[in-house]
Amino acid sequence: HAKEAGRNTFRFFSEDIRSSVTESLHLISSLRQAVTQEEFVLHYQPVYDLHSGRLLGAEALVRWQNPKLGMVSPGLFITLAEKSGLIVDIGQWVLTEACRQMQAWRQEGATDLFVSVNLSPVQFSRGNVEAVIAQALRETGLDPRQLELEVTESTLIHDTEKFITTLGRIQHSGIRMSIDDFGTGYSNLSYLQRFPVHKLKIDQSFVRRLMQGQKDVAMVSAIIHLAKSLQLTVTAEGVENEATREALTRMGCDQAQGYLFARPMPAKDFEAYWRTRPTLTPISRQI
Ligand code: C2E
Ligand code: MG
Ligand code: MG
Ligand code: MG
Repeated sequence: HAKEAGRNTFRFFSEDIRSSVTESLHLISSLRQAVTQEEFVLHYQPVYDLHSGRLLGAEALVRWQNPKLGMVSPGLFITLAEKSGLIVDIGQWVLTEACRQMQAWRQEGATDLFVSVNLSPVQFSRGNVEAVIAQALRETGLDPRQLELEVTESTLIHDTEKFITTLGRIQHSGIRMSIDDFGTGYSNLSYLQRFPVHKLKIDQSFVRRLMQGQKDVAMVSAIIHLAKSLQLTVTAEGVENEATREALTRMGCDQAQGYLFARPMPAKDFEAYWRTRPTLTPISRQI
């Protein structure tokens, strides 16, 4: 019986694998087509200054608008795009489009907003990211001071001298570098002294649980203090309620983004949004 069950399990297992391989091959070819057909769109999520309540800028987040699949979120295709190398082309499109859009908004009066763009580690290892960045700025005319680039800790573990020099040159041009999802990756923090980094973005998993447990309060507070002592800006991601915003503000967190303020939105909507010059309502003082 056991043998038979084992065989059955194996058969189901291998069919599972086969169908998932077929599925991802199909997805890769659709993704490849998406690159040439330009099926990608960017949504923009506002980032606020917690001290002044001012709107500071927006994070550009890619979506895949597929005729058959509909709107596909990055969580479903970025990994595959990285494995297949397609992220190099997608990433170049994202960067150029975000710069083009921010430059257009700048000419409409958004002179003090930044746009931030996520970079995949694969863009560093397999694409000439520095040339791509330079080209995007040259093509669009965007002031590098209006551009931020987000990398995760996993990008930084390749701490070759070449890589440090590349990041140094990027930062030197006036572009600011952020560490995204901070706290979830590499545990050796010494890289923070080696790399020219401007901002830490506290991962939303810590922020989301902030109101629930003592341990997450300690984590978030430790990251804020670390950032302060290294003279880095600190941003909280995934702020979903007023209590979390208040707690973060009291802990000295500089910036925040999250559903409490706004969800990522299409370019047209974000344009209408920043035009209203939105500011956060002051935190009600405790009695
Ligand atoms: P990320 O860079 O950490 O972006 C934040 C994600 O959290 C976004 O998901 C955003 O919609 C979501 N989020 C923001 N506020 C809240 C909140 O209050 N609650 C909750 N539950 N979620 C919130 P999204 O757009 O699905 O992107 C997921 C991830 O995909 C991004 O995480 C980033 O790692 C990656 N990604 C997105 N766009 C790009 C891109 O252009 N290039 C690369 N390489 N990766 C990208
Ligand atoms: Mg990000
Ligand atoms: Mg993040
Ligand atoms: Mg993430």
